[in-house]
Amino acid sequence: MRAKNEGDSERVHCNRCRSVTIHRLIKRIVDEDSDTIDSGYEVWWETTFDMLQCRGCSEVVLRRSSFFSETMPDEDVRFFPPKASRHPPQWRYHLPNTMRSILEEVYSALDAGSLALPLMGARTFIDQLMAKTVGDIGGFEERLKELETQGFISTRNRHDLGVALDAGSAAAHRGFTPKVQDVQVVMDIVENLLQAVYVNPVGAERLKKATPPRQQREKARAKSSAPTHRVQ
Ligand SMILES: [Zn+2]
Repeated sequence: MRAKNEGDSERVHCNRCRSVTIHRLIKRIVDEDSDTIDSGYEVWWETTFDMLQCRGCSEVVLRRSSFFSETMPDEDVRFFPPKASRHPPQWRYHLPNTMRSILEEVYSALDAGSLALPLMGARTFIDQLMAKTVGDIGGFEERLKELETQGFISTRNRHDLGVALDAGSAAAHRGFTPKVQDVQVVMDIVENLLQAVYVNPVGAERLKKATPPRQQREKARAKSSAPTHRVQ
């Protein structure tokens, strides 16, 4: 049920929690007006803007609900950012510029509430990533197999990527109309792939450099414990 007054709670989708959560109505603004058209006939409209804040993660979303006298009782409800929107990951700055630019366009399409376009974009994106990583060695299947052989992805990842590529292809060529959750699954797969190829190796190398070598620690321990043994 919708919140009636500011401070009331209701359940709506949260883009950051990626599920339906309890939100608090922070602010409501109602805009209404009417007009008289030919022969004195009056039409009216009412638009309500609700600012809602997730009580779990504090993310804020704006809901615009409109009624028009001539299309009553239908209500036009839109969310900004829309349900499909998701935060671009901070690690995108680890990506090569051209790839980051395509990825950002995919996120912009999600911000606009598009569903088929991001799937097509994700497919193009995976295609380019494979070309850069393993070269132009054949079709999607061959390149996925090579990614697995070179250790970038596991057998499970290869299967998931195949599913993501096929969804993008279906959106482009087979009239597939994806749902929000389909797009989120594909974006999860794309983000996991990017992290595996571009982000995790850099982080692992940094961690390796920062971690004291095991041998030195063991030597130091042996050195510090040696006199004690001699005294006893
Ligand atoms: Zn949330």
